[in-house]
Amino acid sequence: MRIDILTLFPEMFGGPFGHSIIKRAIDNNIVQIELHNIRNSGIGKHKVVDDYPYGGGEGMVMMPEPLFDSLTKLNIENGTPTVLLTPQGRQFSQKTADNLAQKSRLILICGRYEGVDERVREHMVTDEISIGDYVISGGELAAMVVVDAIIRRLPGALGAEIEQDSMMNGLLEYPQYTRPAQYQGWEVPAVLLSGNHAEITKWRRQQSIKKTAKRRPDLLKDADLSESERQIIQNEIKDR
Ligand code: SAM
Repeated sequence: MRIDILTLFPEMFGGPFGHSIIKRAIDNNIVQIELHNIRNSGIGKHKVVDDYPYGGGEGMVMMPEPLFDSLTKLNIENGTPTVLLTPQGRQFSQKTADNLAQKSRLILICGRYEGVDERVREHMVTDEISIGDYVISGGELAAMVVVDAIIRRLPGALGAEIEQDSMMNGLLEYPQYTRPAQYQGWEVPAVLLSGNHAEITKWRRQQSIKKTAKRRPDLLKDADLSESERQIIQNEIKDR
């Protein structure tokens, strides 16, 4: 997969993309990430990319021309998702990450200042994504979140099994423990030390369901549950 990121701050990506899973995926050619500085398409000698908002008001707005020029240089094939990171977009989710991970190419546009000229939204992008109902100072951190979630879904990017990760099956992950078995008198549940894998699998599944029912009941509508598992949820609700 190839991901092109349009940004005014390409240097911000060095840290998160230079470590761990993302770095390994880049090194192993699982993903190719290209950073493009929008400033290179800025206007005039000073490479200006923003201007005052028509009608007045606080702050500056990113002009359409540098963004359009940056996009044109990318020779984007038809059907390539061109995504603007914006708090006004649809909320990013595991499902969106899974869908985007199926694409061979993805373009991400990072806004700054008071955001981008509305004509960018109307005519240059195919999708708008928000990472949550809050405003951050630029699209770069949002792009990093989106890229990380996508890369985790690319075949070969992770060594370990991820199907049990929270959200993967519509459930939160079961509680995890590691050594020591006793710490300050707090014990690891006995079943996990039993060596009985069938019992461990059953316990984990039940814990996942209980945890999701308690913390994120909204997720359960998409979860694939048996009748007896639905009963666990009813009991959980009754016990509250
Ligand atoms: N005035 C804009 C508004 O109210 O929609 C917010 C501008 S924000 C300070 C600057 C940039 O940060 C945005 O253009 C967007 O790219 C990015 N940004 C801020 N919050 C975001 C969020 N929740 N999700 C994705 N991107 C976000």
